[in-house]
Amino acid sequence: MIEHADVIVIGSGGLGAATAFYLVKRGGRNVVLIDKYDIGSQTSPRAAGMVSCVRKSELMIELIKLAAERIRRFTRETGQPLDWVHSGSLKVARRDEDVAVIEDDIVRGRRLGLDVERISPEEAHRLNPFLEPDGVAAVMRVGDDMYFNPAQVAVGFARGAQARGATLLPHTAVTRVLFEGGSVVGVETTRGTIHGSIVVDAAGAWTRQIAEASGLSIPLVPTAQQLFVTDPLPGVRADLPMVRIMDAAVYVRPCDGGFLWGVYEEDPRFFDMESLGENFQIKHMLLDAAVLWRYADDVKRQLPVLSTASVHEHRGGIPTMTADGQHIVGPTPGTRGFFFASGCNVAGLSISPALGDALAAWILEGAPPMDLTPLAVTRFAPGSWSEEQLRGRARWQYRHFYGSV
Ligand SMILES: Cc1cc2nc3c(=O)[nH]c(=O)nc-3n(C[C@H](O)[C@H](O)[C@H](O)COP(=O)(O)OP(=O)(O)OC[C@H]3O[C@@H](n4cnc5c(N)ncnc54)[C@H](O)[C@@H]3O)c2cc1C
Repeated sequence: MIEHADVIVIGSGGLGAATAFYLVKRGGRNVVLIDKYDIGSQTSPRAAGMVSCVRKSELMIELIKLAAERIRRFTRETGQPLDWVHSGSLKVARRDEDVAVIEDDIVRGRRLGLDVERISPEEAHRLNPFLEPDGVAAVMRVGDDMYFNPAQVAVGFARGAQARGATLLPHTAVTRVLFEGGSVVGVETTRGTIHGSIVVDAAGAWTRQIAEASGLSIPLVPTAQQLFVTDPLPGVRADLPMVRIMDAAVYVRPCDGGFLWGVYEEDPRFFDMESLGENFQIKHMLLDAAVLWRYADDVKRQLPVLSTASVHEHRGGIPTMTADGQHIVGPTPGTRGFFFASGCNVAGLSISPALGDALAAWILEGAPPMDLTPLAVTRFAPGSWSEEQLRGRARWQYRHFYGSV
């Protein structure tokens, strides 16, 4: 067991592994990536793997564009495999208020150089024949969107980091971060203490638990998200555009000859990770197929295939939601050497190459390459909300993922 590291990254999911990779790629030395379980084994491999380029803010669009570029050159950059498909996507409004959101999306997207346009429901059906025009008010085509195999990202970044000199420590749990006079001096783990002056808390659903054990607070809510993968279906091509139905908050993309689909339901399940016990892993999370069938029924006029296709795989994970739907990335106030990379808001895997690189630059050079103030934990005053109020806000952000009102 090593006793010292220059940078200690806690959590080898997409966010932690990407941070470790870009730290060593940017010349950082003595980087250690620690995980309580197998490398990249928790929420990250269970994601849908969709890249959505039209975001609510200009900063997020700039970041996701950078991330998409890195996903395309992932194998060249990391030396590890990543299967991805540039499929584009169709964002579907069924209600007038959602048509207005699409119009705004198009203006913002075009301003930032995205390939976005409004197309007719019939044209959308021609691009993806599984989407029926019945009940569709407007469709935005996003040419930039893509999807990738989620199981390859965190593991790929971690192996790429290891090949450049980082140390991987799986099956090692961090129990708390150690401070002296407001500065990080190391971490206590189940296999001994590691000394070091910089720590990144990228522990996904457990981020808050580690922070609180170390006397810090971070307002995020571990939230269940699940999906189905159907059996292969005649006529499904890998390059069919993904579909998002705004008010139902249902998403669909091609997967292994069938479809992968999920929903941001009205009443998501929230977790207190502490109460799940010390040995809880994401694979132990109970899944609830009834939620998905309820929303298959909601969209059956537009996506009848979801109600009829047989299910090959049902999986889920625990992303973290914040009160404003934005990630939490950067240093914590009042401490020296402690950084967060969390608050993924169900979109952390696709953005991980951009956030990981920005955080690596911040740690090594003292500043991020772009202004990341909107992602700072300081935007939330400590104790702003009770747990119930925080969950209420997180629930709203989750349900309104596609920007519909
Ligand atoms: C069904 C579903 C669909 C999704 N779809 C998308 C999508 O289309 N696009 C997208 O971008 N995102 C999507 N997401 C979200 C995405 O999965 C997350 O944003 C991303 O995986 C978060 O990565 P992470 O590194 O924060 O967490 P994780 O992958 O969970 O990694 C955290 C790691 O920290 C480790 N850890 C925890 N506690 C400790 C400790 N004490 N000591 C050491 N290590 C510890 C854990 O073992 C774990 O490996 C989806 C998620 C789900 C569940």
